[in-house]
Amino acid sequence: MPSLYIDGKWTAGSGGTADVLNPFDASVVQTVDQAGPDDVERAVAAARAAFDTGPWRTTSASERSALLRRISELLVRDKEEIARTETLDTGKTLKESRIDVDDVTAVFRYYADLADKDAGRIVDTGMDNVLSRVVHEPVGVCALITPWNYPLLQLSWKVAPALAAGNTMVIKPSEVTPLTSVMLVRLCEEAGVPPGVVNIVLGEGRSVGAPLTEHDDVDMVSFTGGLATGQAIIRASAATVKRVAVELGGKNPNIMFADVDLDLAADWAMTAVFLHSGQVCSAGARLIVEESMHDDLVAEIARRAQLIRMGNGLDETSEVGPLVSAAHRAKIEDFVASALAEGATLVTGGARPEGPDLQKGWFYPPTLLTGVRRDMRVIREETFGPILTVETFRTEEEAVALGNDTEYGLAGAVWTPDMAKAHRVAGALRHGTVWINDYHPYVPAAEWGGMKRSGNGRELGPTGLAEYQEHKHIWHNTDPAPSRWFSGDARVREEDGP
Ligand code: NAP
Repeated sequence: MPSLYIDGKWTAGSGGTADVLNPFDASVVQTVDQAGPDDVERAVAAARAAFDTGPWRTTSASERSALLRRISELLVRDKEEIARTETLDTGKTLKESRIDVDDVTAVFRYYADLADKDAGRIVDTGMDNVLSRVVHEPVGVCALITPWNYPLLQLSWKVAPALAAGNTMVIKPSEVTPLTSVMLVRLCEEAGVPPGVVNIVLGEGRSVGAPLTEHDDVDMVSFTGGLATGQAIIRASAATVKRVAVELGGKNPNIMFADVDLDLAADWAMTAVFLHSGQVCSAGARLIVEESMHDDLVAEIARRAQLIRMGNGLDETSEVGPLVSAAHRAKIEDFVASALAEGATLVTGGARPEGPDLQKGWFYPPTLLTGVRRDMRVIREETFGPILTVETFRTEEEAVALGNDTEYGLAGAVWTPDMAKAHRVAGALRHGTVWINDYHPYVPAAEWGGMKRSGNGRELGPTGLAEYQEHKHIWHNTDPAPSRWFSGDARVREEDGP
C-alpha cells in the first residue's frame, strides 16, 4: 500500500523509499514511500483546489463536527493496532502508546463538540441601523509539520482543530516516525473527509517540509519541533507573510520544597523526567530542590533510578524503552560528557546499559547529575533525554529565579503542601503550563503552549481552534444614507448656488 495521500488517492511518490526502524533492535518495521518535489507541489495544489473550489469550505459546522466524531470512533476501534505501531515506531512502552491513542481520541471528541458551537459573535455598535458580526472562517491551506516524540498526539492537536475550522491541509510528519500519521490519514479517508482536504507527504524536513513553509499557496504553517527548526520556519515564511504557529522545546523546572514527603518527591521527580526516556517537550529535566532536602532526595532517586526496567516497549513489563535513534542517543551521550567535563557529578547512569536485550537498540539509562551550574550546557539547552540535573535553592525567591532562568518557557511544576506558597510560585513562573503537586497531565479543553522561545502559539482549548480561523468583521448598515463627506455631489453644488 503506498504511503502518500494526495487529492484522495494513495500514491508512491517520486522520492524513492525509506526504512522505518524499530528503536528496540534497529530492525525494519516498514519501508515507506518518500515524496519528491513534484509530490509536494501536487499535495499543495490539491489542498488549494479543495479549499478554493471544493465543497469542504461550505460544509456546515455540524457536518464537520459529525466527521470529527466519526474519526474518534474509528480511533477507538483501531486503538490496539495504532498503539502497537506507535510503540514499534518510537520505542515507547505500549502503556504510553495506549494512553496516547486515548488522548488523541479525546482531542477529536473535544473539537467535534466545539466545532458547531463557534459561530462568531454579534458586536454592539450602539447604532440602531448597524448589524455588526464577527464571523469565523478557515485560514485556508495549512502545512502541519510534526516531530517524532509524540507523532500521533502532536498531529491530532493540529488536524482536529484545522478540520473543525474548515481548513485543508498537507501533513509532513517526522521522517523517523511517520507510521501512525499515515494511519490517521487512512481513518480520515474512511470517515469521509473529501479528496484534497487532508494530504500527507513523507520525507525529510529539508526537502519536503521546507518547500511547504515557503510555498505561495500555503496560508499557514503549524509546526511542532525544535527551536532551531522553528526559527528557520519563521524566517522561511516571512516572504509570503504566512500565519505561523510554532510549538518548540522546553527546559522545564520541577521545583521541590522541603515540606514535601520524600517518597512523593522522589516518585514525581522521576516520573517528570524519565517518562518516554525524557523525550518529552515538557519533561521536568531540571529538579530544583530546597537545599535541606537535597541529599536525601538525590540518594532516593539514585536508588530507584537503578531499578527502572528498560526493555522492548511491546513487553508489558518494560517501564521505559530505548531512545528514538542512534543519532539521538549520540546527542544524549554528548550532553553527559560535556556536563562531566564542565565539573558535574555523575550519581547514576551515564553509560550504555549491559544486558543482551539492550544491545541492538538505542538504550540509554536514567542518568542523575548533581553539582551542576547554571552556565553549563546541560542546564542551558534542552537535552530531550533521560538526564535529570539537580540544583538547589534556599528561599522561595531563589526557586522562582532559577525556574525562570532559561530561554524557554514551556512547562514546570511546584511541589509543596503550602497552597499559598504554591500559587505564589506558580504565578511567578514564566511557563505556559504550571502544575502544582502534579506533573504531565493535560486536557483537550485547556490551552497548551510556550512562552519565550518555547513558541508563539497555543494548541488545544478554544485558542487551539482560533489558531486555524480568520476572524472577519462584517458591518451591515441597514439604513444607508449619503455620507456628505465630500462637497462635489449634486445636492451640495445646488445649495452652494451661483
Ligand atoms: P525537529 O528536528 O525540529 O523536526 C520537527 C519536524 O520538522 C520534522 O518533521 C522535521 O523533519 C521537520 N523539519 C526539519 N527541518 C525543517 C525545515 N527546514 N522546514 C520544515 N520542516 C523541517 O524536531 P524533532 O527532533 O523532530 O522533535 C523534537 C523537538 O520537538 C524538541 O525540541 C521538543 O521539545 C519539541 N516538541 C515540542 C512540543 C510542544 O508542544 N512544544 C511537543 C513535542 C515536541 P525530519 O525530522 O523528518 O527531517
